[in-house]
Amino acid sequence: MFEEIYSPVQQIAFAPFNNLFVKRDDLIDPYISGNKWRKLKYILARVKFENKTHLVTFGGAFSNHLVATAAAASRSGLQSTAFVRGEAVKNEMLLLCSLFGMNLIFTDRESYRNKRQLFAQHFAHDEQAYFIDEGGASMEATIGCAEIIDELTAPYNHIFCAAGTGTTAAGLLRGIQQHGLNTKLHIVPVLKGAAFIQEEIAQFTPVSGHLNLHLDYHFGGYAKTTPELISFIKAFTSKTGLLLDPVYTAKMFYAIRDLAQQGVIGKDEKVLAIHTGGLMGLFGMKDKF
Ligand SMILES: *Cc1c(COP(=O)(O)O)cnc(C)c1O
Repeated sequence: MFEEIYSPVQQIAFAPFNNLFVKRDDLIDPYISGNKWRKLKYILARVKFENKTHLVTFGGAFSNHLVATAAAASRSGLQSTAFVRGEAVKNEMLLLCSLFGMNLIFTDRESYRNKRQLFAQHFAHDEQAYFIDEGGASMEATIGCAEIIDELTAPYNHIFCAAGTGTTAAGLLRGIQQHGLNTKLHIVPVLKGAAFIQEEIAQFTPVSGHLNLHLDYHFGGYAKTTPELISFIKAFTSKTGLLLDPVYTAKMFYAIRDLAQQGVIGKDEKVLAIHTGGLMGLFGMKDKF
């Protein structure tokens, strides 16, 4: 199922840009969405290599990573279990996880903190179980994400991507370094106070001058939003025909426009935004619209 894919690059009309392009990783798959497909690709290769048959992972109740892992497991004939942070709830994302056969274990926030311990407690006797960190964060994931850069057929002055754990960012940085590009990589963390992202990235690839972190576009923090961001999403989607999720991609596109207005990016420079997918994130925030 992780056969070679090339997601298309499309140019979009979005003032004030003349050259704004979008790498449509959101089109890769409806459930193994965007960067989650990139991240799981080599994790699943490793699972096969180690002859494991049971994926065990972690996430919040609206995690794109959980849906992606559940879908990838069922299509690959693997079992899957998730420790879901917080009290038992029902929602659209967890419904999909269950339909794909994922076993959900709701876990209080205190126990959730120590993921390795949870894994050890529950799966000490399951030799088939394979630990996948929250969000798929791993070296394998960065290798998959670096392939986004391999696929590019034209040069760009700037590449933008939203960040949660920073794993996708680390992969993009590695790709840019491997290809010897002088493209600037702009990372927009969606968490508040996310200066730690730089260290996360450094775990996987040496931080170089290509990297620009923009820490001021979190809109209050993870899964937080403001009326301004919601109106931005509405205007952007009605003008471009591209859907954005409020958790990640909306904050990235907002940052792109804001940095252009500040003159940090020239309107004639070539800019590539990575659409990392995650559109189901809209469901978790439907009341905000
Ligand atoms: C998970 C996710 C991200 C964050 O990826 P990291 O590698 O954790 O930084 C970005 N965008 C979307 C849509 C996601 O679902």
